[in-house]
Amino acid sequence: MADTKTWQMFIGGRWADSSRGETEPDINPATGESVATIQVGTREDADRAVAAAQKAYEEVWSDTPPKERAAMMLKLADALDADADNLALLEAEDVGKPISVSAADIPFITDNIRFFAGAARVQEGKSAGEYEKGFTSMIRREPLGVTAGICPWNYPLMMAAWKIGPALAAGNTSVIKPAELTPRTALRLAELAADIFPPGVINVVTGHGSEVGDQLVRNPDVRLVSVTGDTSTGKQIQATAAETVKRVHLELGGKAPVVVFDDADVEKLVETLKFAGYTNTGQDCTASCRVIAGPRIFDDLVSDLVPAVESIVVGDITDEAVEMGPLVSAKQRESVAGFVDRAQEAGAKVLTGGDAIDGAGAYYKPTVVTVEDQKAEIVQQEVFGPVITVQRFNDEDQAVTWANDVVYGLASSVWTRDAARAARVARRLQFGAVWVNTHFMITPEMPHGGYKQSGYGKDMSMYSLEDYTQIKHVMWSLD
Ligand code: NAD
Repeated sequence: MADTKTWQMFIGGRWADSSRGETEPDINPATGESVATIQVGTREDADRAVAAAQKAYEEVWSDTPPKERAAMMLKLADALDADADNLALLEAEDVGKPISVSAADIPFITDNIRFFAGAARVQEGKSAGEYEKGFTSMIRREPLGVTAGICPWNYPLMMAAWKIGPALAAGNTSVIKPAELTPRTALRLAELAADIFPPGVINVVTGHGSEVGDQLVRNPDVRLVSVTGDTSTGKQIQATAAETVKRVHLELGGKAPVVVFDDADVEKLVETLKFAGYTNTGQDCTASCRVIAGPRIFDDLVSDLVPAVESIVVGDITDEAVEMGPLVSAKQRESVAGFVDRAQEAGAKVLTGGDAIDGAGAYYKPTVVTVEDQKAEIVQQEVFGPVITVQRFNDEDQAVTWANDVVYGLASSVWTRDAARAARVARRLQFGAVWVNTHFMITPEMPHGGYKQSGYGKDMSMYSLEDYTQIKHVMWSLD
């Protein structure tokens, strides 16, 4: 079943080996076994990809009208849909996602590409006119040129699509760097795109962040770097990007609060938490990982949540019935276990889970922890694993204060039947998304992106398209 081939990089419409001739194995975290061989790209490879993207931008893509760009993007979406089973398997093996979960992502990914294909044709701006007597002003919304998309390992294909979509729609060309652990679906996308787009419009360079990623940020011809990754990575990229004053678009970590008032619908909430806290093994920057519950609902919530979490089917990722797979790597499991162990030592109570599952893969039990200390490490920092913390608040003010009291600001939810309270709390939450009586819902028409140290720049929606363009003012004298 496993694909054991050696994958090459895709640069300027051709398949390429690492200029250093170096490769590394691609490990399936569900088995600990290598499933393929991947090129370890170099700074030279990154520069070659940028040069190819620049050439394609200047010679072809910047002169390709929106309707033609859109037509190619629609073809790409169709090709990805036709290859869905294969993509789902590659993604499952790379990330350790149950195949049913990776398969469910594909229609959403292709819908995103179709959204941006449409968006390419309906960009908007201020109307031309005489804002000064005797002069006509006109706004041009223009592409940036070469964009680099640096992707994480948790949603490899989706994040590549979220970066390629607005880039191509706006008229830019794209160099994608997949995460080291999960390179194959981006490479497969390149393979499918090869027959659709002119050479150099989409390039994929595999390799390490410290080398290929860093070089993409340093190369002066890259005009925008969009990165989804850890907050510390974002900070480093911002600092490096300052040297060439390039635009950065940052989707960084999260620590989503779930603010539950005493009048919330516990059944609906528990059902939501079972999914939103544990799908993708909790390795999601919007995961419902930090429940802050009211004084009267706390006990009922906890007693319903624990059996629900214990009912999550964990196991073989190729089994359609399995809901949760391993963490992405043994290292990530170690990191998650460290957070839970330290929390326990500091007084937190593990109600279920709290340890690894024996066997070959990097499995960890779905875990629920109650915590009293708002300053506890497990409340403040991103665990990025199948762990939900539950805290008890006293009143609305304390709930909002605690929800906002983290460096992150990506996503949040509020649970109440009181409409005025929902509106009040939604206004006060310092997060780029607030869900009311739901969690985890995203749609291509609406923006996704952070406040505070979760970064800035929006994915999806017309706001994303704006981030991938620049504005030019052209002013004519009428004399
Ligand atoms: P990471 O930060 O280690 O890596 C992300 C990408 O950046 C990888 O491709 C990596 O090679 C590259 N990279 C690393 N250092 C670099 C450097 N100095 N210069 C250029 N590129 C560099 O993150 P990860 O481990 O792949 O993903 C997990 C993290 O991403 C979590 O913290 C999670 O919260 C965050 N995340 C955020 C979002 C979001 O939408 N905000 C989505 C997914 C993941």
